[in-house]
Amino acid sequence: MTSGGAVSLRCPDCAKAVGALEDGVQCRGCGRRFAPAEGVWDLLPAVLGAPTRSEDRLHEQDAVPTWRRLFYHKRDWIEWCDARWLPELIGPGARTFLEVGGGLCYASALAKARLPRGTVVATDVSPRYLRRHALAVGRILGAPADVYAAADVERLPFEDGQFDAVYSQVVLYRVPDPVRALREIRRVLAPGGRYLGIERASPWALLFREDRTMRARAAARGIAERPLRYWEWERLLRAAGLAAAALRPVPGRRVRSALLRRAGNAVRQIHVAISFHG
Ligand SMILES: [Zn+2]
Repeated sequence: MTSGGAVSLRCPDCAKAVGALEDGVQCRGCGRRFAPAEGVWDLLPAVLGAPTRSEDRLHEQDAVPTWRRLFYHKRDWIEWCDARWLPELIGPGARTFLEVGGGLCYASALAKARLPRGTVVATDVSPRYLRRHALAVGRILGAPADVYAAADVERLPFEDGQFDAVYSQVVLYRVPDPVRALREIRRVLAPGGRYLGIERASPWALLFREDRTMRARAAARGIAERPLRYWEWERLLRAAGLAAAALRPVPGRRVRSALLRRAGNAVRQIHVAISFHG
């Protein structure tokens, strides 16, 4: 389950090419050695920003059982991910799949079920959360990812151009520098590979309320969460040099028309789909 031989590692500290992700592999640049511990690789930079460290610390007191998180909190998301988003993302020739900011990483398990002979890499910034929940989710869904790794999406520990599909779900709004994260995602995409991100777009007419709630929560938790409006997503994509990226509202259960959903985005948050090619 932790065999990552098909994945080429880039040192998260000195950015040198390390070679295949194999137990005990060592960086020739800085000497750092890599090995999985309790089923999870630590591929985080040695020096982390405060918000990134806080994301892991959030889960210190976590007592919610995995099955409850999965089937109470995420039931609809699992269905949408499996029926709508992964079929769009994983093309017929896809062999390598990367999930960033996966949390429970059920998207990786669902992807592994579609790519039994492929390589699926499940990542999140919190090694604690991966050990506590993502490994169990892989077992519950019957298709564990090939690799579970703690990784920072702003500094992906992978060599260029090696993933046919990269997926994120409600991640980038709480990453300190989403532009940097988007550039990193494009860097690791294989030529012709595809990224799909299902992200949240905050309401623009009543932003004040959402802004206050989210900023208070982020301050209390020490994380970088903040509201991003539809036009801010457009700006971020341009800033990342992704002018050709597609941005569209995701039809919901109640509001099926993407156009109406975008209109409703004035008063309540919606989800948007971001996609681009490598
Ligand atoms: Zn190194």
